[in-house]
Amino acid sequence: MSAHIGGSVVRFEGLTKRYGPLKALDNVSLSLEAGEFMALLGPSGSGKTTMLMALAGFVRQDEGRIFIGERAIDQLPAHERGIGVVFQNYALFPHMTVAENLAYPLRRRGLPEAEIRQRVGDALDLVRLTQLGGRHVAQLSGGQQQRVAIARAVIFRPSVLLLDEPMSALDRKLREMMQLELRSLQRELGATVLLVTHDQEEAMSMADRIAIINHGRMVQVGQPAELYRQPQDAFVADFIGRTNFLPVEMDPKPRIAGFAEPLGDSLAEQDTRPDRDVVAGIRPEDFILDDHPAATGAAARIVEATFAGARQVLFVEFDGGRIIVETNAHQKLWRVGEAARLRIRDRAARLFAKPND
Ligand code: ADP
Ligand code: MG
Repeated sequence: MSAHIGGSVVRFEGLTKRYGPLKALDNVSLSLEAGEFMALLGPSGSGKTTMLMALAGFVRQDEGRIFIGERAIDQLPAHERGIGVVFQNYALFPHMTVAENLAYPLRRRGLPEAEIRQRVGDALDLVRLTQLGGRHVAQLSGGQQQRVAIARAVIFRPSVLLLDEPMSALDRKLREMMQLELRSLQRELGATVLLVTHDQEEAMSMADRIAIINHGRMVQVGQPAELYRQPQDAFVADFIGRTNFLPVEMDPKPRIAGFAEPLGDSLAEQDTRPDRDVVAGIRPEDFILDDHPAATGAAARIVEATFAGARQVLFVEFDGGRIIVETNAHQKLWRVGEAARLRIRDRAARLFAKPND
C-alpha cells in the first residue's frame, strides 16, 4: 500500500470503544499527514494503546471509522492494512533467533526463501544488527530486542509505522540514542509514524505534531511549540512543560492573590475566556525576579535554588503561595533566603477553568 502524498494517510473519524461501562475511546478523531511523525501523548489508561490497536486491526471499535488514504479499512484484517507495529512488550519469540523472528511473518505468507533472506538482511542492516542474526532473542539486551521488534515491524516496508511506548524500558542514554535513530529510520523509510508515549519530553523532541488524549478524549492536536504556548486547558498546560496555577479573583479585574495590581498586560490574548472558576497558568520562565531596591511587584523570597547549567530552578514564596521560577543563570545566581520583587512577563498569564479532576 503506497502513501498518499499530500493528503492525510490515516484518518480516525469519531472512534468510540467501550469496555463495559468504560469508554476507552470517546468519539476520537485524528488525521495524520503523509510522512508525518505524530506522537499520541497521554497519561496511563487514557486510551493510547486502544487507539493504536484499532488502527492496526487488533481491536474493533464500537463506533466510528478508520481510513487509510481514501479507503475505509474497518473490515480489513490486520495483515492487509499495510501497517507495521512495534508492540509495547515487543512480542518477540524468545526461543527463536533474531533472523528467525524476522523471517517468521514472511514465511507465513509463503515468500520464496531467497527473498526472505534478502529482506531479513536488509531489515537487520536498517536497525544496525547485521552481526546478530544468529543470536537468540533471550540473549539480547533490552535495546537490541527493541531493534529486532522495529526490524520486524518494517520488514514489509509499511507506509504506516505504529510504535507503542517503544522506549519506556530503556535507560536514559539509550533512549535518547534510539529517539535519534527512530527519526532517521523514519526518514529512510519515508513512513508515516504514530508513536504512543506518556513521556512529554519524548513527544516534544521527536514529533512533528502531538495529539493529546485524556480519558479517551482527544484534547488538543498541534505542533510542540503551539501546545506549549497555547495550551487549550489546564490539563495540557500541566502535561506539556510545567505550569504554576494560581488562584484568581475576577472582580473587578483579573488579579492574582498576592499581587497588588490586576493582571492587565500580563494576560495572554485568548480565544475564549473560561466561564467557570478560574485559575491563572504561568510558566516558570515567565516570572521576573528583580532584586533592585526600586523594583516593583509582589514581595517574594527564594526558598530553594538548584543550578541547571544555563538556568536556575527556584522555589519562590510570596503572599499568593509557592511557585517554581526558572531564571537565566548567566544574569544572576540567586541564593536561598534572598528577597526579590516578583512580576509576570507581558502576555504570559493564561486563564483556565479550574480543573475538576
Ligand atoms: P493507555 O495505552 O493510554 O495506557 P489503554 O488504551 O491501554 O490506555 O486503556 C484505556 C482504558 O481501557 C483503560 O482504562 C484500560 O484499563 C481499559 N482497557 C484496555 N483494554 C481493556 C480490555 N481488554 N478490557 C477491559 N478494559 C480495557
Ligand atoms: Mg498503553
